[in-house]
Amino acid sequence: MSNPHILIIGGGMVGLTLALLLSQRAEFDITLVEAVPLPPLNPDEPLPYRPSFDARNTALSRKTVTTYRELGLWDDLQTHATPIHHIHISEQHSFGIARLHAEEEGIESFGQVIENAWLGLVLLRAVKSKSNIRVLDGAKLTQLQINEQQATATINYQGQEQQLSAPLLVAADGADSLCRQLLGVTATSHDYQQTALVTTVATHLAHQQTAFERFTASGPLALLPLPDDRRSIVWTLPKGEEQALIDCSDEQFLSALQQAFGNRAGKFIRTGKRFAYPLKQVLAQSQALPRAVILGNAAHTLHPVAGQGFNLCLRDCLALTTRLQQQVQAQGDIGDLALLKDYEQARIADQQRVIRFCDGVVRGFSNRQPMLRLARNVGLLAFDLLPHAKQTVANYAMGLRA
Ligand SMILES: Cc1cc2nc3c(=O)[nH]c(=O)nc-3n(C[C@H](O)[C@H](O)[C@H](O)COP(=O)(O)OP(=O)(O)OC[C@H]3O[C@@H](n4cnc5c(N)ncnc54)[C@H](O)[C@@H]3O)c2cc1C
Repeated sequence: MSNPHILIIGGGMVGLTLALLLSQRAEFDITLVEAVPLPPLNPDEPLPYRPSFDARNTALSRKTVTTYRELGLWDDLQTHATPIHHIHISEQHSFGIARLHAEEEGIESFGQVIENAWLGLVLLRAVKSKSNIRVLDGAKLTQLQINEQQATATINYQGQEQQLSAPLLVAADGADSLCRQLLGVTATSHDYQQTALVTTVATHLAHQQTAFERFTASGPLALLPLPDDRRSIVWTLPKGEEQALIDCSDEQFLSALQQAFGNRAGKFIRTGKRFAYPLKQVLAQSQALPRAVILGNAAHTLHPVAGQGFNLCLRDCLALTTRLQQQVQAQGDIGDLALLKDYEQARIADQQRVIRFCDGVVRGFSNRQPMLRLARNVGLLAFDLLPHAKQTVANYAMGLRA
């Protein structure tokens, strides 16, 4: 290939979104390698779950929504998305409450909640329509070599070993990234000893586009609004406690949920299938190497407490895209270490801020000490009364930083 060729390993939310951002410039040739066979593109059939695009729902920040709008995807995406107009933060058995209203902040919404499976379908359809993106699905990276000119990935594709070379390789293969290991990059990992139980529920009250974050004795419980007045649940539980709530009857689950959440959202009347996600923080020690860059969960996997993970990844994708486009315009080398280091350097402050925030919320609200609980409650109450504090937390609390 004569055009600058970029090899993306991993077709999850990050790999697909980056491919689409890059494809806006016809000069790039992109090859996307995804281990899991991708589904047919028929929106009438139930969407099959695959990594990244499963039973979860994702709170997209306004910046993320704008990006998808600019990519021409929002009209399609919004058919399965719900705006967040109100945010309600509280702690179980405590008096502190914080409320945020988009109208008071002078914005249309704090962001949008989208069904991951739908996001996956729309992204995949868009990727398949681009003449400068080639998708190899059911193709697993097994080996990686880097030399001065290029990165060469060995792929197991339909039972055959194949080699693909490019001046730049993007590792977007998730938290347990093989790319990261093969590149010799270590990662620090912290197991929160917690699991996120994810499901969809209905209540007897309409959700009125309200997102709730409730800190319960077992862990944070988020309720996000979905189309058709359903609500998405992300319930953080101590590791091991989730199984009983998955195995029990729907009635038993709804009753446990009601007890933990209280009555603010109304009576929980229906639940969908329940899924578990073990929670850990994984941070790559380096994200930029000669001819390779590490992105998405492979670079930083966060606790989902504040719904920040993907929104942060998207800002990384935008920054990388801009640099690669400028480099191509200047007829420079897209795998140049100085360029990739410049990208890493530019992103580190935002990444550190979000990592500290998510980790801080998990640790801060896990502590049951009476004095700390009191401080948290006074904090929430003060926050509710101080309009300026609201904007700051609105930007972070639900991962909706613009
Ligand atoms: C319960 C939960 C709720 C969340 N909610 C939010 C939210 O509301 N807002 C938000 O911003 N973020 C949220 N997140 C975070 C978000 O899900 C992640 O940031 C996002 O999934 C990262 O995507 P990724 O593409 O980097 O990784 P992944 O989703 O892990 O995708 C990696 C891809 O690489 C492929 N792959 C792996 N190995 C190979 C290989 N050897 N060869 C080829 N392909 C390979 C995999 O099959 C997969 O498709 C949440 C996370 C969790 C757990």
